[in-house]
Amino acid sequence: MNVILLGSPGAGKGSQAVRLKDEFGFRHISTGDLIRAEIAAATPLGKKVESLVKQGNLVADDLIFDLLKNALKSETRSIVFDGFPRTIAQAEDLDKYLAEQGKKMDYILSIELTDEEAIKRLTSRRVCKSCGAVYNIYWPDYKGVCTKCGGELYTRADDTLESAKHRLDVFKKETQPLLDYYGSKPGFVKINGLGALEEVFASIKQALNLIK
Ligand SMILES: [Zn+2]
Repeated sequence: MNVILLGSPGAGKGSQAVRLKDEFGFRHISTGDLIRAEIAAATPLGKKVESLVKQGNLVADDLIFDLLKNALKSETRSIVFDGFPRTIAQAEDLDKYLAEQGKKMDYILSIELTDEEAIKRLTSRRVCKSCGAVYNIYWPDYKGVCTKCGGELYTRADDTLESAKHRLDVFKKETQPLLDYYGSKPGFVKINGLGALEEVFASIKQALNLIK
């Protein structure tokens, strides 16, 4: 089974992908991980990608796709794509690649959040200045100070309101074309992303017919 998880920052795509991996043996494909693994393996492709990343350049679509093809070559497990595709070109390439192998994208799940909830989640993280422990202001046991070392908690620069709004804007610009592309395809399902991770995971399992 091939599944794409779409969803705004804060929607918990990565956590849900990990659950599919842990509970149902999915291969979890995230392009960030693919890039890091290829660089670590020091393949010719990895060296090319490394020099791009070191210079602060984005890794081009076709290179990312090469990484992906390498990873998928002998893969027989179900796959959950997390953060890929990002563009229509990648989505088309992926569909074409799967079709060549007699496969298809079986499900495209769009985990939906209101802007308000996304902003709330993206700005609720606090980090200890002394030991780096991570907290969330909505946790029931949140004390406003580090319970491990007593240190002061602060909001990281990328967790501020301004930064959260920017991430949400970028996401919408990037993802709307993908929603247009996938929205009318069979297997496209909207998932309500409000509620706890466990509830959202239950909806995902139901959408994928994984409930026994
Ligand atoms: Zn601390």
